Amino acid sequence: MAVKKLEFESIYFDLYELSSGIFAAISADKLPSSNAGFFDLGNYLVIFDTLMDPYSTLDLLKASKQFTEKEPSFLLNSHHHIDHLLGNRIFPMNTPIISSQETFMEAQESLETRFKGFRERAPAELKRTEEELLNEKNPDKILELKNDINTWNDIKDPNYKLRLPNVIVNDSFSIKGTKNHVQIIYIGAAHTRGDMVAFFEKEKICFMGDLLFEKPDPNWVTATEGVPTPANPEHLRDTLIEYSEKDIDIYIPGHGNLCTEKELRENAEFYNEYYIKKS
Ligand SMILES: [Zn+2]
Repeated sequence: MAVKKLEFESIYFDLYELSSGIFAAISADKLPSSNAGFFDLGNYLVIFDTLMDPYSTLDLLKASKQFTEKEPSFLLNSHHHIDHLLGNRIFPMNTPIISSQETFMEAQESLETRFKGFRERAPAELKRTEEELLNEKNPDKILELKNDINTWNDIKDPNYKLRLPNVIVNDSFSIKGTKNHVQIIYIGAAHTRGDMVAFFEKEKICFMGDLLFEKPDPNWVTATEGVPTPANPEHLRDTLIEYSEKDIDIYIPGHGNLCTEKELRENAEFYNEYYIKKS
């Protein structure tokens, strides 16, 4: 089937059905900019990554319920970066959160530090957001700012708890549903120390997490904030080349719009040029 843009109201993402039961939430040109997905396998609903903002993750859950009529069976964290994992806390404790061993370890190490930074920034961010709200006329933007204010207030709350993955795997595996199955492929060290992707072989669709960006930017190399240096640029490049040669029609990047093999080759070239040749 052709990619179908679905009618779903969210200020955070556009929703697409890529093939029957395979959905992508794309936040290109919106905030928080990271993408996610959900898969209706028949008897299971699998969520691929969360979004950074609690309200965007709530929209993701709402969309998954609306279009699959299911509650999430599993959540998968493709890697540990906070923009893909902060929404974990929204999921009920009886929903297993799957990740690689490295993702779990890195999340455990970095999440508290990153979060401490958020907590310290909260008062200033609250002040800034409240001021911005006073002058805002666009209803979508007003909703976003109000949600942001709630989020910063939540973060200030000492009882605010993060949630780490709790089903830790060391290899690739498949989830076989009654209607469909997905291969979760362990890549190992590439963008982070333990990345995973979700591959639908028959449908020729692959959710790449942050192994793939629609538009990699040379400014990242010198930036002190934002996109970190890949854990293993050579393996990242080689994986991108390997996946570009597979029989796949649609690649879902961690950030940006839906991609084809062209962007994988561009990403491979980008890492080669800016991270491998120069080191
Ligand atoms: Zn990342």
